[in-house]
Amino acid sequence: MKFETKVIHAGIHPDPATGAIMTPIYQTSTYVQDAPGKHKGYEYARTQNPTRKALEDNLAALENGVDAVCFSSGLAAMDAVFKLLKPGDEVISTYELYGGSYRQMVQVFGPFGIKSHFIDLNDRNAIKDLINERTKLIWIETPTNPMLSILDIRQICNIAKKSNILTCVDNTFATPYLQKPLDLGADLVVHSATKYLAGHSDVILGAVVTSDKELAERLHFIQNATGAVPGPQDCFLTLRGIKTLHLRVQRACDNAVEIAAFLKKNRKVDKVFYPGFNDFPNHEVAKKQMAHFGAMVSFNLKSDTKRSANKVLNKTEIFSLAESLGGVESLIGHPASMTHASIPKKERLSIGLTDSLIRLSVGIEHADDLIADLRQALK
Ligand SMILES: *Cc1c(COP(=O)(O)O)cnc(C)c1O
Repeated sequence: MKFETKVIHAGIHPDPATGAIMTPIYQTSTYVQDAPGKHKGYEYARTQNPTRKALEDNLAALENGVDAVCFSSGLAAMDAVFKLLKPGDEVISTYELYGGSYRQMVQVFGPFGIKSHFIDLNDRNAIKDLINERTKLIWIETPTNPMLSILDIRQICNIAKKSNILTCVDNTFATPYLQKPLDLGADLVVHSATKYLAGHSDVILGAVVTSDKELAERLHFIQNATGAVPGPQDCFLTLRGIKTLHLRVQRACDNAVEIAAFLKKNRKVDKVFYPGFNDFPNHEVAKKQMAHFGAMVSFNLKSDTKRSANKVLNKTEIFSLAESLGGVESLIGHPASMTHASIPKKERLSIGLTDSLIRLSVGIEHADDLIADLRQALK
């Protein structure tokens, strides 16, 4: 089945009780049993819920996995993956990590004795130098936030496989419409479905998808044993959002092409960070592992101060100033004072995250209106 058909049909069955074509919101905590232990496969809603099950089956199909496990947020999904580890284990990840993921690794799992290393994951030798018998997981995020750097998923997974190390890819920015990490050799994929998958800025939800039955079983155990499950209404909204994933992401990507080209020519703009440019680092890798270059675009200003950035941020009318991304509406943000404020300035600058860097989450409005909005704001 093709992706465009899967988003609508995979895992979805008409409701057996009524024939309702849409998966109902099973807003229940428990299920009546015919006799003690004799039930229809559902006992208690932390353990199983039919709305959640439909979403899990759908996501497993979209990522070409065998199973998916949903959680109350993207970070709860990551937390479940880390609970596959134990004290003494080590993790290798990229230094350009989503801030919340970095915080969880260092401040939550660090004190539990799980040590995370942050390096340039495109540097094969740097990975090999760090690998030892305690290394159990490589955590990949690509494209990265907000510099949109591209990591070579297949290359990293090949190194990990030789040492029996698990690989997990945070696929939030790309979505399975653009990039399928399991096909490239990853063991696990994590999503903040809050972003493109749900796609309408109205849900917080996370998921882990895997190609390995045993990992899936352990994750379902963790889901039930620790309990960070999403509510059925949020699962319903995510399922509803996914039905148009291919249309939304394609349109947003098409808009991003035009916006990136416009910004590149604007004389107030210094650099534009967009993996679709021929001269962008690892553009060839992006071309190989992604179906399109995504709908996130970052840029900085020739006048590289927070004040200059603020002028632009205050002037846009269609782009709304907000954290998050991946909704139908376009958002604009200032990483240095918003999403990445907790990173020391020296570290920020070392990855190119300057004071005037502006990040766009390009939505699905008309490109002409979005460009006109940026043009007047940059004046
Ligand atoms: C938002 C985000 C997360 C965290 O997801 P929540 O649903 O907010 O918990 C993780 N990774 C990336 C890349 C994100 O953008």
